[in-house]
Amino acid sequence: MKNIHIDLRSDTVTKPSPKMREAMFHAEVGDDVYSEDPTVNRLQERVAELLGKEESLFVPSGTMSNQVAIKTHTIPGQEVICEENCHIFNYEAGGPAFNSLVQLRTLRGKYGVLDVSEVEAAIRPDNVHVTPTALITLENTHNRAGGTIYPVEKMREIYALAYPKGIPMHLDGARLLNAVVATGIFAKEYSKYFDSVSICFSKGLGAPVGSVLAGSKEFINKARRYRKIFGGGMRQIGILAAACIYALDNNVERLAEDHKNASRLADGLRKLPGIYIDMAQVQTNMVMIHVRHPKFTPESLSRAILEKGLAALAIDSERIRAVTHLDISDEQIEEAIFIFQQVLKD
Ligand SMILES: *Cc1c(COP(=O)(O)O)cnc(C)c1O
Repeated sequence: MKNIHIDLRSDTVTKPSPKMREAMFHAEVGDDVYSEDPTVNRLQERVAELLGKEESLFVPSGTMSNQVAIKTHTIPGQEVICEENCHIFNYEAGGPAFNSLVQLRTLRGKYGVLDVSEVEAAIRPDNVHVTPTALITLENTHNRAGGTIYPVEKMREIYALAYPKGIPMHLDGARLLNAVVATGIFAKEYSKYFDSVSICFSKGLGAPVGSVLAGSKEFINKARRYRKIFGGGMRQIGILAAACIYALDNNVERLAEDHKNASRLADGLRKLPGIYIDMAQVQTNMVMIHVRHPKFTPESLSRAILEKGLAALAIDSERIRAVTHLDISDEQIEEAIFIFQQVLKD
């Protein structure tokens, strides 16, 4: 899109930096379908280590990562428990039904966090009439809830319910490292309650492509086959994995700057007329801007700020979402606040 000077639509809009491109340029490569790409293998070992899992698998997107995980954990006719605003239910184009012939059992969370007793009640008994519960998925940070952090003790409580019943858990950790940086809790500490964990490199970590799915050796062996079936077997992709390794080395700690920018943005905007921001929701790199203005809807306000070069998405009839990332500076945050001020005053 042209005329965008400050792009807060998503952290997916980040572009590979010159140094990241240089790392890509120098990457050693091989055929990854034969598991012979040394750079991909290095990335997979690093992510497995980071998440405390035996192995991991590089995939083209977060959607494929979640879909391969669901396929690997389930058989047709089963049920997957998830939060009703989660990515898997809302933004993966019906993938669980299409790819895995499973149904989703959605529960409403608060800030994306499920009530443990509701999860317990949703787990189906062993009875010929009902759909067997095959998997529980959680999301951290939670995108539609505004980048909120899933409390690790809530994960532990759900795991304590699921484990004795033999129900596996999957973590959609597209932005898990945002939670790690914000809380100081190790990634491993989160992932130990899950049989599989997916993380994305194409969001705030700034790589052009790539997600990694981690789990046991047995799980990854099975997942590798489904990745091939889904068309995700790629060849000399060390050039992509090199960008992800670069991101792990250089772009993780700096997520703290994005979090600081998001709170500054929220603080600047919440005082403006016709704007409401739930500050408890501002935990990482997102700001959910509730528009309660006599003249503007989220849609018309997002069009008005776009006229001034500021892009943010109207995600529903109440809210605009603004996401901070590594291509947004402190100055641009001040400018964004100023643009909102101008538009709401006019
Ligand atoms: C972005 C995102 C994904 C993956 O989306 P892709 O566009 O397929 O990379 C998965 N889960 C969450 C929570 C996300 O925000």
